[in-house]
Amino acid sequence: MIFMRTIFLAIIASSAALASSALLFLPGHHPNPAPTHLVNTLKGEKLNAHGEYSVTPKVFKVEHSEASWKKMLGPARFEILRKAGTEEAFTGKLLNEHGYGVFVCAACGQPLFKSTTKFDSGTGWPSFWKALPGAVIERPDDSLGMERTEVICSRCGSHLGHVFDDGPNPTGLRYCMNSLALKFHPEKKPHSVKQAKR
Ligand SMILES: [Zn+2]
Repeated sequence: MIFMRTIFLAIIASSAALASSALLFLPGHHPNPAPTHLVNTLKGEKLNAHGEYSVTPKVFKVEHSEASWKKMLGPARFEILRKAGTEEAFTGKLLNEHGYGVFVCAACGQPLFKSTTKFDSGTGWPSFWKALPGAVIERPDDSLGMERTEVICSRCGSHLGHVFDDGPNPTGLRYCMNSLALKFHPEKKPHSVKQAKR
């Protein structure tokens, strides 16, 4: 009797192990869905049983129909911002923009990056080591057979680029942005503290 019970338990245990290992091979299952440095999660975005993100419609402050976006942005910006495209390296107008100011979302105008956080990464795309607080949402992107972290605008959901963890100090992050996803707004450089006291 005890022997039978042992066999029974062994069968239960092995079928449980089989079930959990089978889960790893289910289509769409992502064993490690969220990189640790994610700064924001998308409001209303939830992981479903398959480890995929499902987005509830109407989560962004700025939303338009696809046709309206296309009309507003023009074909090149539309392809990047609304279709998650990538511009060719070293072609972007803002790659060599070194002025003082702020880089805003080309789709909705939300300020995204300060010029003081821009650096030359040598990749051919405008690169920043930090985004403005709450300006972007980061989420896993498994497209093209690569595990990357996509960066989207938190106000309109437009695709901006990707973030990697091989950036410079102090964050160690590299926000690799499409120049066409951004617009530059020059600002007057503030006086230093010493000058302001005079
Ligand atoms: Zn935007």
